[in-house]
Amino acid sequence: AVNCTRLPQIPLPRDIFGEWKNSEGIDLNDRPTLLETARGVNAIPFEPEGGDAVHADPHHPTGRSRAAIEAGRTPDADVHNAVTRAQAAYPEWDRRTVNERANILERWADLIEENRIELMGLVVKEAFRSIPDALSEVREAADFCRYYAQRARKDLTVHELPGPTGEYNALKMEGRGTWATVSPWNFPLAIFTGQNAAALVCGNSVVAKPAPQTPAIARKVVDLAHQAGVPEDAITLVTGGADVGAEMMSDQRIAGVAFTGSTATAKKIAQTLLVGEHRPIIPFIAETGGVNAMIVDSTALPEQVAADVLTSSFRSAGQRCSASRLLILQEDNADEMIHMLSGAMDMLHVGDPGDPATDVGPVIDRAAYDKMMAYRETMRPRWIKTVAVPEDEGLFVPPTMIQIDDIEDLDTEWFGPILHVTTWKAGKLEETIKRVNAKGYGLTMGLHSRIARNADLLRTHARVGNAYVNRSMIGAVVGSQPFGGEGLSGTGPKAGGPHYLPRFCAERAVSIDT
Ligand code: NAD
Repeated sequence: AVNCTRLPQIPLPRDIFGEWKNSEGIDLNDRPTLLETARGVNAIPFEPEGGDAVHADPHHPTGRSRAAIEAGRTPDADVHNAVTRAQAAYPEWDRRTVNERANILERWADLIEENRIELMGLVVKEAFRSIPDALSEVREAADFCRYYAQRARKDLTVHELPGPTGEYNALKMEGRGTWATVSPWNFPLAIFTGQNAAALVCGNSVVAKPAPQTPAIARKVVDLAHQAGVPEDAITLVTGGADVGAEMMSDQRIAGVAFTGSTATAKKIAQTLLVGEHRPIIPFIAETGGVNAMIVDSTALPEQVAADVLTSSFRSAGQRCSASRLLILQEDNADEMIHMLSGAMDMLHVGDPGDPATDVGPVIDRAAYDKMMAYRETMRPRWIKTVAVPEDEGLFVPPTMIQIDDIEDLDTEWFGPILHVTTWKAGKLEETIKRVNAKGYGLTMGLHSRIARNADLLRTHARVGNAYVNRSMIGAVVGSQPFGGEGLSGTGPKAGGPHYLPRFCAERAVSIDT
C-alpha cells in the first residue's frame, strides 16, 4: 500500500449503527434522509419511480428494487448541464500545475481518512458491505489518491526530447477535457474515488455517475473533493441508472470514458461511442467482469487452500469481480480437499453486514438475490455443500459449492457466493490453464502448489491481468498489484498501476526552431 500505515487502528463498536451520525448530524440508520443528503447542491436530483428504491434493508423480503431504481431517470437537460458546467471548469483546472492538483489529491486522501467512520457507515448501510470490507475501501480510496498524486508528479512533467542543433522538442501531458466516469456498487467508495482522482489529477474535469444503489457514498466523496480544493464544477455528480449512463455516453462533448461494471454494459457503451459522423474518437477504459478459476494441485497445503478459497469465493458475498468462481482440484486428492473445504464453510457466519462477526453479508438487492437463488435452485442436484443463513426473509444467499463435470460447463459470471468445483488430471496443468483461458475472460487466476514448475506454467500460460500463487485471489493493493483484466474482462490500463494516468492525458509534442 502506498501509505496504509498512516491509518490508525479504528475502534469498532459492537453495534456499528447504534450511535452513528454523520457530520451534518444525520442518523446513518435513516436511509431516506441519507438519500436526501445525496441530492445536495452539486448532485442532480434523482427521483426513482416507486417508493421502494429508498428501502434498503437486507432483512426485508423486497430489499430494494433495482427495477425501481433503474426506472428513475435524470432529465436529459441535467446530464447536458452537468457536462456544460464541467466543460466550463476544465480550462482553469487544466492550467494549474501538476503539483497543485497532486497536493489537492493528497488533501482529499487525508479527508477520506479523517471521515472514515462516516464513510464506513455509508458503505455498510448503503452497499451492505461488511465492516472489514468497508475499512479496506477507505484505505484503497486514500491509496488511490496518494498513488496517483505521486505518479502525476513523476509522469506528467514536460519531457524534453533530443533534436538537431537549433531545434527544441518537448512532449507535454495535458488533460483531454471532460471525462465521464461510471462506477459499480460493489466498491462504491474505492472505485468511484480512484476513477475520479485519476481523471482530475491529469487536468480533466469530470462528470461522475455512481451506481444507482450507492449515491450517498458518492455524494460524500465529492463533498470531500471540494473541501480538498477541487473546484465546484470540476467534478460534477449525476445520479441515476442505465438511462442516465446512456445519456452521458451519447453526449458528444465527452473527451473520455472510464467505466467499471459488467462486460455487457461495457459493450453497449463501446457501441454508443462509435455513433455520430463527427464524434471524436475518444479513449474508453473498461474494467469488467470475470469467470475466474483457482487451480489446486496435490502438493498444496489443504488448510491454506481452504482458507484462501473461503476468502476468494465467499468474502463480500462473492460480489467481487476478482472472486474465484471455479475451483479446479487435482483429482488425486480432490475428495480430501472438498472434505476440508466443507468443514471450513460450516464456520462461515452469514449475517448483518454491521455485525463485526459477519463473514458473508447480504447481496446488493432483490434482483441480484432472485437471480442467484434461481440459478442455485437449478443446480440443486449438483450441490456439494451449502450453509445456513439467517432464518428471517432477506437478501442472504447461502454460500454454496456446486459440482460441475467440465471446466467448459461454466461460462457466465455468477456474481454471488456460489463456487463451482471440478477436477483436472495429473500432468495436464498447462492444458487446464489453457481451457480456462478459452472462456475469453482474463481477470484473475490462482494456483495453489508447492512445485515451482507449476507456478512457472501459470506465469507463462495464464492470460489474465492478475495471477495469484499460494494466496487468495482478491484484494489487489494499489501500487503493488495493479489491477485489471484483458479480453472480456476489460481494456486496461490497470488501476493502481504506473500506466493508468497517461491514458487520461492528451500527449502534445512541440517542436520549435530556435
Ligand atoms: P453494471 O454494468 O450493471 O453497472 C455499472 C454501472 O454502469 C452503473 O453505474 C450503471 O448504472 C451503469 N450503466 C448501466 N447501463 C449503462 C449504459 N448503457 N450506459 C452507461 N452506463 C450504464 O454493473 P454492476 O452490476 O453495477 O456491477 C457489477 C459488475 O461490475 C460485475 O460484472 C463485476 O465483475 C464488475 N466489476 C468489475 C471490476 C473490475 O475492476 N474489473 C470491479 C468491480 C466490478
